[in-house]
Amino acid sequence: MSAERHNWTKEEILEIYNQPMMDLLFRAANVHREFHDPNTVQVSTLLSIKTGGCPEDCGYCPQAARYHTDIEGNDLMTVSHVKAQALRAKASGSSRVCMGAAWRNVKDGPEFDQVLEMVRTINKLDMEVCCTLGMLTENQAQRLAEAGLYAYNHNLDTSEDYYKDVISTRAFEDRLKTIDNVRKSNVTVCSGGIIGMGEKLEDRAGMLVALATLNPQPESVPINALVAVEGTPMEDMEPVPIWDMIRMVATTRIVMPKTQVRLSAGRTNMSREGQALCFFAGANSIFAGDKLLTTPNPDVNEDMEMFKLLGLKPQQAFVKAPQPKTVEQEESVLQPLGEKPKWTRPGHKIERNEEAKAKARRS
Ligand code: SF4
Repeated sequence: MSAERHNWTKEEILEIYNQPMMDLLFRAANVHREFHDPNTVQVSTLLSIKTGGCPEDCGYCPQAARYHTDIEGNDLMTVSHVKAQALRAKASGSSRVCMGAAWRNVKDGPEFDQVLEMVRTINKLDMEVCCTLGMLTENQAQRLAEAGLYAYNHNLDTSEDYYKDVISTRAFEDRLKTIDNVRKSNVTVCSGGIIGMGEKLEDRAGMLVALATLNPQPESVPINALVAVEGTPMEDMEPVPIWDMIRMVATTRIVMPKTQVRLSAGRTNMSREGQALCFFAGANSIFAGDKLLTTPNPDVNEDMEMFKLLGLKPQQAFVKAPQPKTVEQEESVLQPLGEKPKWTRPGHKIERNEEAKAKARRS
């Protein structure tokens, strides 16, 4: 029986990642079957509730205001719009809605209140609700929990070492602090990263060390392949080879046996055979819907055809953790504290980010 371990080292993880492919697949598939039904895949729908205009400088992201990309920004969606989208997602097999807002951090006020109302609304549709809103305080995490939030997504993105080459407007420790704030509530943690940003294998292993040594480990770990978007600092990155994705998924499965490993961005570049190998290697969650925030994703009908072909079933909501209770706003015992936490702003220069910013100014 594989146990959850919290003392993984980078060397051990690299040894797993680099072993012969057949050995890696066999080991990962065995671990997967110990903890999960291998024929069930959890389906999430990602909804961009506030797009673009973000003040951060994440080198992979087309929503950063400082780069010139083709995305169309919008203000915070209304609750009724979100409800309609959630119902559509449920009808097409999703058990979870993940709402993303392009914010640096959550601020108490009418917009956050509106998000809390979205959380209540979706929880009442008997769907798992996840949010990804940037950095947040313990009080804000508690308020989300009280509204019925099931999961909070906050990706580590990459290793602590490489983080400095991707983002200069916040630090790795801010990510860990937010995850810790979420952990103090009863909301589950979703945290993963992106491969194909020019990182070394040591960085992929370093990110997995950071995630696997959290205690408890995140309930959900998205593994993204970079989608290189024109206008971002990473526009010229080569696509991630499918074998790297399979190795990353398998290694994640082995070091975090109970976690739902989500095959996230980059699926449009993967064949069905490639995705099937990822499922065999331990991926048991996908994002459905034709857009992932702003980047393309396979059509939901295509995914359902793939499920049929592979004999996969969508996972029902709340099989891994019970449905949270929603407390109505008027019955809330928690007050907004109006805190202004000092999240880090290292501000160092990242050459490719600077170049993309200069190019945006010229266009
Ligand atoms: S990844 Fe999130 S925080 Fe970073 S620029 Fe994009 S929207 Fe902003």
